[in-house]
Amino acid sequence: MTVDASVRQLRVAIIGGGPGGLATAIALSKIPNVSATIYEQAKVLREVGAGISIGSNTWNVLQLLGVADTLTSGHPTWTIVNMNGRSGEELSRREKPELPVGRGPIRAQRTKLQSALLSHVNPDTIQLSRKLHRMVDKGSEGVELQFKDGTVVEADLVVGADGIRSVVRDTAWPDYEIKFTGTTIWRALLPWNDVKDLDPRFGITGWWHTPTTHVYFSHVGEGLWEIASRAWQDPAIHSANKKSWGVPVENAHVEAHFTEYLPEIREALARVPPGGWREFAAFAGPELSQLTAWNNKVVLVGDSSHALSGAFGSGAGFAMEDGWILAQALAYWKNDTSKALPLFDAIRLPYYSRMYAHLASEADKRTAKLKTLGNPSFDEQVKNKIITDGGKDMSWIYQNNIELVWKEWAEQLGRTS
Ligand SMILES: Cc1cc2nc3c(=O)[nH]c(=O)nc-3n(C[C@H](O)[C@H](O)[C@H](O)COP(=O)(O)OP(=O)(O)OC[C@H]3O[C@@H](n4cnc5c(N)ncnc54)[C@H](O)[C@@H]3O)c2cc1C
Repeated sequence: MTVDASVRQLRVAIIGGGPGGLATAIALSKIPNVSATIYEQAKVLREVGAGISIGSNTWNVLQLLGVADTLTSGHPTWTIVNMNGRSGEELSRREKPELPVGRGPIRAQRTKLQSALLSHVNPDTIQLSRKLHRMVDKGSEGVELQFKDGTVVEADLVVGADGIRSVVRDTAWPDYEIKFTGTTIWRALLPWNDVKDLDPRFGITGWWHTPTTHVYFSHVGEGLWEIASRAWQDPAIHSANKKSWGVPVENAHVEAHFTEYLPEIREALARVPPGGWREFAAFAGPELSQLTAWNNKVVLVGDSSHALSGAFGSGAGFAMEDGWILAQALAYWKNDTSKALPLFDAIRLPYYSRMYAHLASEADKRTAKLKTLGNPSFDEQVKNKIITDGGKDMSWIYQNNIELVWKEWAEQLGRTS
């Protein structure tokens, strides 16, 4: 931490040590007069899940955090396919032009991203086994944080980086609710050598679909291969016991959802070693009208701020962008949270609004298309699932350059102040 006598001293409590919390800590460590501590509920910081996609937007923020060069493992994903999981028909193929410079898109092991971030965080600033239980608004004195183990600390600013089931959000936005979307995800990693005899197409990153399920295959580097499969069931019927997030499940339980697939795909699922599957129930919640609360003493970053359950496959990137922007806003306003937090809100809230709007319009288009098909066959339903993605300009997400976004805001502020 650097010290500057003209800048307010700020005690920051970051709740959660996922990509959002770690990136926030790294970004805050580069600005003056902030002492930030991460409080993480886990005994050991480790990612659950299998792989993670890192595209241009995520590379941009990793570069700004100084972490990009530390993340050295992953598999390039220049080619991506969508396939019919029952017939094997190829439905779409995207070949991104390989860039001669810069970093290309990769699929990496989640643990690699986490350890790369962690290696840039001062270990003395991380407290493990600290599960936030409650927060109390102490007015001008800040926020009191009460942890499950009885520890109590105070902070001037609380950063809720505690994921989709955020205690920070549930405390400061007590009416907010997330609900089971009906989608359950099962993820596993296994050696590519164990499956490579099955089908050469399994070596290409891609999705194999039925109307209500898909199976995703990708290399993730270091000889490992990922399966991320998901199935949708009516949440009105299946929501009761859906609390799972990274819990181990039996192979037979997973395989039962994918019986319609090609035999090679079913065989790939069957080759996951017992104990290798983890189950994740996808929850989502509505758009927030503000990402800050309690008179600018609480701010949400990452999944807590936009409960979309990984809808864009880039949520770790969004979480890290949040952390970086928060640090720029604080630095710009010399840690005056009454100005910095509204600025953070003004930059990030419309971005998340645009995501909610995009998802709603895609869902409408899909429903309208299904209506025109009348009584669609299996294959028509599968085609309809992916047809709306074609050609849509999603560069505002996947090519987002958060540094440019910040520069434009800083210029605008310079003109108006
Ligand atoms: C199936 C799926 C696939 C995805 N694929 C991708 C992808 O390819 N690329 C990508 O960028 N993103 C992807 N995402 C999204 C990405 O995983 C999340 O957006 C990202 O992990 C969010 O980071 P976060 O730091 O906000 O939250 P999290 O990663 O959820 O971290 C929250 C942390 O807070 C801790 N915590 C929670 N409650 C408390 C508490 N009360 N007290 C203390 N600590 C607490 C947790 O233990 C955890 O360490 C995917 C998501 C899903 C579900």
